[in-house]
Amino acid sequence: MKKIAAALIGALLLITQNAFAEPLLKTEKLADGVFALVGSTGGRLYENLGLNANYGVIDTPEGAILIDSGASTVAAKALESEAKKLTGKPVRWVINTGSQDHRWLGNAYFAGQGAEIIALERTVATQKRLGLSQIDALRHELKEQLDGLKIMPAAKPQAGDKASLTLGGRKLELRYFADAHFAGDIVVWLPTEKILFSGDHIYVDRLLGILAESNSETWLAAFNHAIALQPKRIVPGHGQVCDSAKAQHDSGDYLAFVVQGTKKLAEDMAGVDAAVKALGDAPAFKHLLNFSDLHKGNVSRAYLRFESGS
Ligand SMILES: [Zn+2]
Repeated sequence: MKKIAAALIGALLLITQNAFAEPLLKTEKLADGVFALVGSTGGRLYENLGLNANYGVIDTPEGAILIDSGASTVAAKALESEAKKLTGKPVRWVINTGSQDHRWLGNAYFAGQGAEIIALERTVATQKRLGLSQIDALRHELKEQLDGLKIMPAAKPQAGDKASLTLGGRKLELRYFADAHFAGDIVVWLPTEKILFSGDHIYVDRLLGILAESNSETWLAAFNHAIALQPKRIVPGHGQVCDSAKAQHDSGDYLAFVVQGTKKLAEDMAGVDAAVKALGDAPAFKHLLNFSDLHKGNVSRAYLRFESGS
């Protein structure tokens, strides 16, 4: 009897916890059949399946289009079930906006379900270069969620910097402007709806991360091209759905601050410590989440890239 009571209490606790738990991805409708899935602005966690980023779902009469596939099979299944809830249809196409883990490591799962994986050649080149090391780096956090994961970039990637697609009657453009967060990052532009899925070109609400792979100067140029499309709504790579003004402040102005500051200091051969000291205080951006964890590292990596002339 005691055992049954304990099991009942356990089950009740679980139900209550789930009822109050934040959903993994918040859904936002942007236009008829066009949805953003907004993930956490924090780090990759076992609990969030590495879905600490934003995704897109587009309904068509012939199946759902998914923008980015998550960092594992488990994450891919979570995205699949969101797409199914929103459209009632299986995912027929998966588009990769970039080559960071949570943009594409779920590809193999969707390919196994019969979906076509779509990406530009440039993006695939970076995915092939980084895939194995990404799985290694995720292992510590995602543990057995990565078991059996296969690396599967698009089998027939698109050449060039622009691909105009019509999928299930929906018009989409894949646009590459310049190397950004990662080499070969693209945006997905819906010219009819004027909706921009910016991938990691744009972060809002939280500070963006300039990584060793990132080229801050060309990223800024790519950002400016993306904004020049004059989107009505932007689904950023991270943070809430926004307009151009917010994207400009949280990503464009921040990139300009880091690029202009570090470029000048590198030309003056100031040294990385002096650069971090001079630019480490950035009051205009302090309110962004993760600022204290990321800003100084961003400055030092941007500076070192200018110093090395790469
Ligand atoms: Zn990202």
